[in-house]
Amino acid sequence: MLPVVAIVGRPNVGKSTLFNRLLGKRKAIVEDIPGVTRDRNYARVDRFGRPFLLVDTGGFEPASEDRLLAQMREQSQLAIEEADIILLVLDGKEGLTPSDVEVVELLRRHDKPLLCLVNKIDGPRDEANTAEFYALGLDEILPLSAAHGHGVSDLIVRLEELL
Ligand code: GDP
Ligand code: MG
Repeated sequence: MLPVVAIVGRPNVGKSTLFNRLLGKRKAIVEDIPGVTRDRNYARVDRFGRPFLLVDTGGFEPASEDRLLAQMREQSQLAIEEADIILLVLDGKEGLTPSDVEVVELLRRHDKPLLCLVNKIDGPRDEANTAEFYALGLDEILPLSAAHGHGVSDLIVRLEELL
């Protein structure tokens, strides 16, 4: 059995961009329209220390904050159930939102290894955007630019330690 690594987070934070980046090729559909990944997208990744199954979670664009929360709970529940390692993607441009706080609460009640990634940190000017995410109380926050590649090698180092 391959270890399962699930990417979770709100729509439009860059989950599919990260999925493609880790795959090393384009597969998931990345769109400016939030929630364009309709289904979960699976791919075997064997470019790193140990092969794993990567899961990109998606779903429809939620109609409201309530729908968004419901979808996040559902995604996180699935991740908790089927994943061995969870990559939580947060949006460093958007900032910390109530649904992020809630999903972290849900995830931390279980002891699945969790890497918390603040995405859209495209350069040194964006680094300060990670600060507010320390309020989540997680041990470690990794800055990332899934689109441009900054922070990806650090993420891979941490992921390989967990695999
Ligand atoms: P998903 O809904 O979480 O799967 O998000 P997508 O991967 O589809 O990306 C949503 C939008 O965010 C797209 O316009 C991406 O180009 C953009 N995006 C993704 N990663 C980054 C990043 O590292 N920096 C910036 N500036 N934009 C990003
Ligand atoms: Mg997507």
